[in-house]
Amino acid sequence: MGEHALLSASSSHRWLHCTPSARLEEKLPESSSQYAEEGSLAHEIAELKLRKYCIEPMGARAFNARIKKFKENPLFQEEMLKHTDTYLDYIAGVLHGFSSPPYVAAEKKIDYSSYAPDGFGTGDCIIIGGNILHIIDFKYGKGVPVSAKDNPQMKLYALGAYTEYSFLYPIDTVKMTIVQPRLDSISEDSLSIEELLKWGESIKPIAKLAFDGEGEYSTGEHCRFCRAKALCRARADHYLSLEEFHKMKPPLISKEEVGEILKRAQELSAWVKSLEEFALSECLQGNEVSGWKLVEGRAVRQFVNQEEAFKVLMDNGFEETMLYERKPLTLTETEKLVGKTKFKELLSAYIHTPPGKPTLALKEDKRETFKRLTAAEAFAEVGK
Ligand code: SF4
Repeated sequence: MGEHALLSASSSHRWLHCTPSARLEEKLPESSSQYAEEGSLAHEIAELKLRKYCIEPMGARAFNARIKKFKENPLFQEEMLKHTDTYLDYIAGVLHGFSSPPYVAAEKKIDYSSYAPDGFGTGDCIIIGGNILHIIDFKYGKGVPVSAKDNPQMKLYALGAYTEYSFLYPIDTVKMTIVQPRLDSISEDSLSIEELLKWGESIKPIAKLAFDGEGEYSTGEHCRFCRAKALCRARADHYLSLEEFHKMKPPLISKEEVGEILKRAQELSAWVKSLEEFALSECLQGNEVSGWKLVEGRAVRQFVNQEEAFKVLMDNGFEETMLYERKPLTLTETEKLVGKTKFKELLSAYIHTPPGKPTLALKEDKRETFKRLTAAEAFAEVGK
């Protein structure tokens, strides 16, 4: 795993909201997941393609040899080649928009320590041409689409790049893009240098508090990626404090209270999940978690060799057709088999997307509000 700044750009959303979290995290072990390692590999492939395309021309032989090496990595997936192409296609489009070849840097260390103490990170792609500084970030994750709009990680990279290059280039506009090909998501934002620098000044005191481990703990959705999310006392206190609910007057709670309880329950279930993960990993390491122990989970019977087992049945009079089902592929499996373009070309007349079932979502959810149902429709939905 590479070197990380205490105030890393990727965790800035968290330390800007909860300033003491950066120092608290330092006390807890870092963990890596297979997803993070897959992401690093995909980044290396993306970097190679970008370098070949416009930074350090490379013969087909040398390029193929390096791709072959990537393919030997057990985490390599064929789709990494396609998704890194999407990233490169986006960059190629940006480059073609300039009247003369712009400056391009790949996987460049960016120092934004004038805004956040000791702050640095790595920019996947920096393009500077005309008066424009363009920061492009490649995200291989497929959890939730990450928006470039008002994104502090991108703005910190932009501040660092501006600090380094403003002596050489007359930059007046910053563009920021997050390419997240596994979610078909390309999110863009732009702002003037004045706006960027104003934001930079506004975060300086907050970053200082975070670096010094001071300020107030503040819970919220940013806790999701915090290393302290299971053991943080502020989070525990937040979820365990039920004062507001004590104020509720019997016998019936109001609709406002229903909304508030549901909101709290969503956060609570995420918190309980992180506690379970923590307790399980402690027990697996032989440590004690008061009141809990490890047991063997429910095991599912399996054939040692299904083909041979079925052969025994067929030798004993069972027909092959009784033992095997013929099932069509699902729509997604078919699309994967045929390829997106061919699938669209051949089958669009056969695809129908029915309206989704009404689902509860928080007010802040970006989806449009569902059209109101008639009383009869609503009754039918609840009965489903
Ligand atoms: S879990 Fe949340 S409240 Fe606790 S330190 Fe981390 S970000 Fe702050």
